[in-house]
Amino acid sequence: MNDTRLLLALDFGGTKHTAALARQGERAWLGRRQQAAPPRADAAADVTIMRLLARELLAAHPGRLAAIGVSFGGPVDFARGLVRLSHHVPGWENWPLRDQLHAEFGVPVSVDNDANLGALGEWRFGAGQVETRHPAPPRSGDHSVASLLYITVSTGVGGGWVLDGRIYHGAEGMAGEIGHTIVDPNGPVCICGRRGCVEIMACGPAIARRARERLGAEPSAGAHLRELIQNDFSALTAEHVSRAAMEGDALAEEVLLAAARDLGTGIGNALSLMNPQRVVLGGGVTKSGEAWWAEVRRAARANTLPEISVDIVPAALGDDAPLWGALALAESLL
Ligand SMILES: [Zn+2]
Repeated sequence: MNDTRLLLALDFGGTKHTAALARQGERAWLGRRQQAAPPRADAAADVTIMRLLARELLAAHPGRLAAIGVSFGGPVDFARGLVRLSHHVPGWENWPLRDQLHAEFGVPVSVDNDANLGALGEWRFGAGQVETRHPAPPRSGDHSVASLLYITVSTGVGGGWVLDGRIYHGAEGMAGEIGHTIVDPNGPVCICGRRGCVEIMACGPAIARRARERLGAEPSAGAHLRELIQNDFSALTAEHVSRAAMEGDALAEEVLLAAARDLGTGIGNALSLMNPQRVVLGGGVTKSGEAWWAEVRRAARANTLPEISVDIVPAALGDDAPLWGALALAESLL
């Protein structure tokens, strides 16, 4: 006799899979299950884990499942509900995830990539709220900004657009790839094969690489950073660089701010092109301290038109942004 309508949100991440259940119209999870992605998995193994997590949740929380939203950490053909491939796990090529879940659970299903759903999640429940300038608990999307660019800066740089309340996919589903816009045509070669993309200049591994290059070229500089890594260049990460910068290491600070400047330049270009109301930045690199944030904002302002406002704020939902986006996606199917 329980006819509560339930929405299921699924997130296939690179290192973990998460399923969560909410009542329609509510802003809190009824239940949430997570499992580490097994080493040497394939697509079928990942799907099996997710189906079990979903079944556990549905068994524990009576009600009627009404829709499923799915976030996938890799390229997705949104219109056809296909995963195009995974950069981490074999076997996902053209996997019909939407139709498979629809056949199993008998409700509408939609699948999108994690950057787009991170954007939708932040727009609907997080830093896309008009009055929210700082991290806040998830709440209703009724007061969301009209347009939002979401950028995640971690091991790569991903992005997604929400325009007038909807994800903007672009003609081929490639909209939002700010990580592969070019800010230095003479820069290093990016994973995409071109030079000087935002990603190869500003992501976490890029910050580590830039620091390593500087330490190699300037044997007397960066004493504190060298101390932090005990002179083991292979152990150097972006976290070491931001910590050394915060603790006053001049070389580390220069490296960190150069990366921030390149990201800010890319954001400035995006602002001139699309004039979004707000830019939301998430991912581990955004924890690099106030100097990093100030330089991102300064460079964005310096590289866009003076008439354009630069409203760049931290993400509010952390790693859960795509999961919240999957909930918003499920909601949009009703
Ligand atoms: Zn690139």
